[in-house]
Amino acid sequence: MFSRILIANRGEIALRIIRAARELGLETVCVYSEADKDGPWLEQADSKVCIGPPPPLDSYLRIDRIIAAAETTNADAIHPGYGFLAENAEFASVCRDCHIEFIGPSPEAMGLLGDKISCRAMAKKAGTPIFPGSEGAIDDEEEAVALAESIGFPVIVKAAAGGGGRGMRVVREASELRPSIQSAAQEAATAFGNGAVYIEKFLERARHVEVQCIGDKHGNAVHLYNRDCTSQRRHQKLIEEGPAPGVPDEIRDRVCESAAELIRNAKYAGAATCEFLMDPEFNFYMLEVNTRVQVEHPVTEMITGVDIVKESIRVAAGEPLSVEQNQVSISGHAIECRINAEDPDRNFMPQAGVVEEYRIPGGLGVRVDSHVVPGYRIPSNYDSMIAKLIVHGRDRSEAIARMRSALSEFRIGPGKTTIPLHIRLLQEPQFLEVDVDIYYVERLLEQD
Ligand code: ADP
Repeated sequence: MFSRILIANRGEIALRIIRAARELGLETVCVYSEADKDGPWLEQADSKVCIGPPPPLDSYLRIDRIIAAAETTNADAIHPGYGFLAENAEFASVCRDCHIEFIGPSPEAMGLLGDKISCRAMAKKAGTPIFPGSEGAIDDEEEAVALAESIGFPVIVKAAAGGGGRGMRVVREASELRPSIQSAAQEAATAFGNGAVYIEKFLERARHVEVQCIGDKHGNAVHLYNRDCTSQRRHQKLIEEGPAPGVPDEIRDRVCESAAELIRNAKYAGAATCEFLMDPEFNFYMLEVNTRVQVEHPVTEMITGVDIVKESIRVAAGEPLSVEQNQVSISGHAIECRINAEDPDRNFMPQAGVVEEYRIPGGLGVRVDSHVVPGYRIPSNYDSMIAKLIVHGRDRSEAIARMRSALSEFRIGPGKTTIPLHIRLLQEPQFLEVDVDIYYVERLLEQD
């Protein structure tokens, strides 16, 4: 096992990793930017190192400074959290060159699954369901037109190296295909230095269902069942729950097992999420694999009892997974609401500034993952998520009732947050009846 790990992240996930490390008896080092010098999580770390000014490009994304901090503090591993450098294969490779363990997959596994074209090919082999679409990158526009016609419009042109929604074009008729391929390829080349694009079927009405997996360095991989993250705004998740409601057990198990098989075949060590879109007939199509711990991982921890962050540190240190597939089962239902410092009534305008009032809810089955304390100043440089409220109940309706109660107990001010939006969504008949697709929140907001 390691003796000291460096956390290359901030906020709630830095605190989450500190907690896991402490339980494992490890010391922690936090790197921080000047904007975060008073970050409450830093008090919980054994040591801290300032790595630069507020902009991420000058601090949390500076590989050289993070490695220097790890070397000077004698850290033997680095946990990247999510965002920032978490899915950067170059960072994982520099860590390896410097003999520091990257807590996550190898750069090879990250590269294979991070490239959407090679990921699709691997998924096909593992029996993980994918969208009908091109086998590899498009190199002939004639063939692309013929393929799109055989799949049927609409189709979507996507970049192999895509991320953050860039390099994607929805194409509704044949005449639009060529220009879309050209512009998507150009955008991808500029944004990612890789202009490879492919096409797949575009699903109009779908739910977002994802499978949590974890693998070790001994060739083992398990799934920890699924989560539904259909409540989104502009492709940003707002509410996540698990297990995904209404999915027949037999279909759920088949898709989850295929995701674990994909991770196993990729020789993947660490936490991974296979994201899918699911149509109303419960057909699944893989979107992508996220090669890191996710914001919504607590949902899965609450229903399976597996500590995903601790487990990922253990497997990075070379230990085998502590659970086998037949030891993983689902207990009850969990829901997470992302509490963002944003004003839903003013186009989700970020609310930087001091949090004067901060009182968190409690009680049976209520968990708050947050770095905020009263008097904390939210910097304007980073993500606006300030807390995650997670509840667990014996079933979905108990979890919903518990979440409503916990949301009404939460006091944050004077800045606005997404709490009132969550209270509203948890009363919506569409949410309650799971009659939803990934655009339903936006449609509701437009009606206002
Ligand atoms: P990125 O890596 O850029 O986030 P994704 O492949 O995850 O790209 O796609 C981003 C979003 O675009 C998805 O969450 C989904 O809402 C939408 N999307 C992507 N592919 C499809 C598809 N084939 N059909 C319908 N929607 C899609």
